Amino acid sequence: MTDIAIIGGGIAGVSAAYWLALHPSAPSVTVLEAEATLAHHTTGRSAAQLIPNLGAEPLRPLTVASVPFFRQPPDGFAEHPLVSSRAVITVAPPGEEASLDEQLRAARRVDPGATEVEYSEAVGLFPALRREAFGRGMLEPSGDDIDVAALHQAFTVGARRAGATVERAWRLAAAELSSGSGSSGSGDHPRWNLIAEDGRTLSAATVVNTAGAWGDVVAGICGLPGVDLEPRRRTAFMTPSGVAGSAEWPMVVDVAHRWYVKPDGPQLLCSPADQTPSAPCDAKPEELDVALAIERINEATTLGIRTVASAWAGLRTFAPDESMVIGPDPGMPGFVWCVGQGGTGIQTAPAAGRLLADLTLDGAPSAFFDGVTLDLAALTPHRLVGR
Ligand SMILES: Cc1cc2nc3c(=O)[nH]c(=O)nc-3n(C[C@H](O)[C@H](O)[C@H](O)COP(=O)(O)OP(=O)(O)OC[C@H]3O[C@@H](n4cnc5c(N)ncnc54)[C@H](O)[C@@H]3O)c2cc1C
Repeated sequence: MTDIAIIGGGIAGVSAAYWLALHPSAPSVTVLEAEATLAHHTTGRSAAQLIPNLGAEPLRPLTVASVPFFRQPPDGFAEHPLVSSRAVITVAPPGEEASLDEQLRAARRVDPGATEVEYSEAVGLFPALRREAFGRGMLEPSGDDIDVAALHQAFTVGARRAGATVERAWRLAAAELSSGSGSSGSGDHPRWNLIAEDGRTLSAATVVNTAGAWGDVVAGICGLPGVDLEPRRRTAFMTPSGVAGSAEWPMVVDVAHRWYVKPDGPQLLCSPADQTPSAPCDAKPEELDVALAIERINEATTLGIRTVASAWAGLRTFAPDESMVIGPDPGMPGFVWCVGQGGTGIQTAPAAGRLLADLTLDGAPSAFFDGVTLDLAALTPHRLVGR
């Protein structure tokens, strides 16, 4: 028996568990993860970058609110820094210079240091940029590398310390509503009887849906309509950089998101920035997508990529308006959504988990969000459920 069952142990699930378990009302919290290891799906496959100017407009405040947490987490949360500085250069190729104006405006709203850079400055920072592929460029100095494994582990350990339980290989297969009052934190509504694929059961007052690409599947298991989530496959691969000092280079992103390159130690993480619609699944990279990335990056840079050390793909999952879906379901008491993390689920995780806990247990955002203007109407499930 638990007060709150969280379905999914990716970054959304463990950040939610951390904040819910720390709440002064001390609800009992259980994370149920289908796979034998946590973070097996999208969370373990990201580019691990924080870019303030990324994602739908309503998600930007979640990144802004997460930054102080990343830079100065609570005492004892993590043994090592969670982020380290990695600037981002956006390149508009010749013929597409005008498209940088909107990017500059958007970037300056969240990163006052965002500025246009000439080729000479850009190539000084990222020496492999080709002159003929550079029309205009923008530098965002306040980007960061995120240590995703450390962040996920710290939320998990922190949640456990606060009393939460984490169950692996516990795939939710069925859910029934039983009559009778819920206990602490549930109000006066029936409890959930959650049934795993292998027949184990768990009674919970509240279900939190953090199932990533399976968000609509989990809603369906609980008898709710989905919110039309669209998982989209994104491919990435590693290649040796072969250039001394490349580990210090900034990330470089094409203005129309046709490719990006990010240094990772002696290697480069590369992507065609693909977003192919997919059913929820264990996503695999397609050779064609890797080849496309190589072609585009070799056109724009002098890297001359020939070798792929490792390749993978993950599902970035979007709601129809590309904002997240965070908070209690308007029609089903005891069911809470935290889905649609898209391409910013890591960089927004501290704030998204906190907002979920605030809305679930207190009904409103806490002081964590002081100084940040949240667009709650663009995050609430009310905008999508039962439309
Ligand atoms: C190539 C790539 C690059 C990216 N780069 C970045 C980046 O630089 N910065 C950034 O912020 N974000 C990035 N993202 C996006 C980010 O990785 C995601 O937004 C985030 O990981 C989503 O986390 P999640 O917990 O919602 O989903 P997941 O990590 O997929 O977790 C969902 C979990 O739910 C579990 N589950 C599903 N169904 C059930 C069930 N029935 N019972 C129990 N458990 C279930 C699954 O097994 C899974 O572990 C990137 C993504 C990709 C693919």
